[in-house]
Amino acid sequence: MNYHDLYQSGLLLSRIREAYRRLANCDLCPHDCGVNRITGHRGICGAGLKPKIASANVHRGEEPPISGTKGSGTIFLSGCSLSCVFCQNFPISQFRNGEEITTRELAGRMLKLQRQGVHNINFVTPTHYLPQILAALWLAIPDGFTLPIVWNTSGYEIVDALQLLDGVVSVYLPDMKYSDNAAAVQISSAPGYTEINRAAVVEMLRQVGHLQVNEDDVATRGLIIRHLVLPGERAGSRKTLSWIAKNLGQETHIALMSQYFPAHKAVETAGMNRPLNHEEYEAAVAALEDAGLKNGWVQDLDEERGAI
Ligand code: SF4
Repeated sequence: MNYHDLYQSGLLLSRIREAYRRLANCDLCPHDCGVNRITGHRGICGAGLKPKIASANVHRGEEPPISGTKGSGTIFLSGCSLSCVFCQNFPISQFRNGEEITTRELAGRMLKLQRQGVHNINFVTPTHYLPQILAALWLAIPDGFTLPIVWNTSGYEIVDALQLLDGVVSVYLPDMKYSDNAAAVQISSAPGYTEINRAAVVEMLRQVGHLQVNEDDVATRGLIIRHLVLPGERAGSRKTLSWIAKNLGQETHIALMSQYFPAHKAVETAGMNRPLNHEEYEAAVAALEDAGLKNGWVQDLDEERGAI
């Protein structure tokens, strides 16, 4: 069932009602703040009732099947349920810069990007605005919205919230940031990240399967996992990659990222205040190979992203 079927059957509307009901005692993410966002209270992510976006643009720098030849219609949501000390987008995620708009205006941005010819609509850091995104989709469908939806997320998601997206999201693009909960708390203020994240990607794979592309090698459906290698092995790369191969399958697509640099509070955080070195990234690439993961992309520390 895709989102057009959900719309026609009334199931999309039921899911929107359920998602907004959750906003009244917000448990949309693992923080389970319990605040009433409908009456203006805000939890850890800082999000309110109306969606707040930092940008809605054509982006050509995502993984090749996401950007394709025409670009990805990337909509950056403001705020975040994580507080990563190294966040390169900290003005958007931590300072919550952006513009508060209505769900109808959000639908308008989706339709405008579609008219610009992009391959998909790519919601970046969307978790805390799940109800509003569903509502925007419901408003956009009768005006001709047809593009695949990409859910570009930190991976700190709860399964029963993700189930509201079943049939809505075509491509999941989650991070798997840590294999150690102490590191997840220390660096990203994300208690229980490892187990929560692993359960989330299992659900994502159940919904969309492994990556499928069309004749132009553009993603139509599936899962791509991003893993950013951190200095001092703080991301636990070998354990995460091994877990993926064993639990999701060696055909899983991985974007192994080397682009770490000390941004935001990492500049003053011991152990995080330096770039990644070649040995650290090469060790992660070796772990990828040892795990038998054959699909996806690796980066050279000094060069562009290349296929595994
Ligand atoms: S989405 Fe925001 S308010 Fe809701 S539980 Fe998560 S951090 Fe708290």
